[in-house]
Amino acid sequence: MSSRKRRPVIAGNWKMNMTPSQAKEFISELYDKVKGKRGCDIVVCVPAIDIPAVVKACAGKSIKVGAQNVHFEKSGAYTGEISADMLTDAGVKYVVIGHSERRQYFGETDDTVNKRTKAAVAAGLTAIVCVGEVLAEREAGITSEVVSRQVKLALLGLAAEDMSKIIIAYEPVWAIGTGKTATAEQAEEVCALIRNVIAEKYGKQTAKETIVQYGGSMNAKNAAELLAMENIDGGLIGGASLKAADFSVIVEAAQ
Ligand code: PEP
Repeated sequence: MSSRKRRPVIAGNWKMNMTPSQAKEFISELYDKVKGKRGCDIVVCVPAIDIPAVVKACAGKSIKVGAQNVHFEKSGAYTGEISADMLTDAGVKYVVIGHSERRQYFGETDDTVNKRTKAAVAAGLTAIVCVGEVLAEREAGITSEVVSRQVKLALLGLAAEDMSKIIIAYEPVWAIGTGKTATAEQAEEVCALIRNVIAEKYGKQTAKETIVQYGGSMNAKNAAELLAMENIDGGLIGGASLKAADFSVIVEAAQ
């Protein structure tokens, strides 16, 4: 199922880093390094409080803005939460859903990942849906089972047409923030498996067009090798997205 026609998406996940003022300065530094690099989409997924400053700083530039979470209800008594309509109205285009840190620390489940994905897509956002096994699952030899299940549950009730608004990010939990990257072969194997799950559900054409990212300690040194793999269409990058020089090298590797 080969296609080099998919446009890579290089997305930074800032996690809980950068104040609005720091974010504004960072975007200007980053843009100086990535302007003119048109071979991939560049996204920064920022803390909610940074969204207005970052949307303003990115106006007219080739950097798009993402959020790190979204609530699945349209509005109501959900103190502290942010709806998909609020995000789109603020100028956000992407949203990370089901990041392992949210699954681990904030009670995110496959069911809420599915609900958030539906809400995001219905509002016109592009959902970056994170899946990935923990170390014990890899060691037990059940990575394929775990990741297939997560993908299938995340996509329950979504149609083939929705897949142009959904990116699947394969993020082995043991590789996130640990400096321990999956080898290009390990990452490729699971990204190919994800594409097969999509092919079984929606057909080969949809699978061929779906963006599947790798995330987990991707950095300036290993990005080129990972991004060269047939089924890896970009990256979701944590630590290295906070350094403009490193993030721009990853963007360059995706050209
Ligand atoms: C992430 O936050 O999605 C991530 C992959 O982090 P890191 O690149 O730091 O491992």
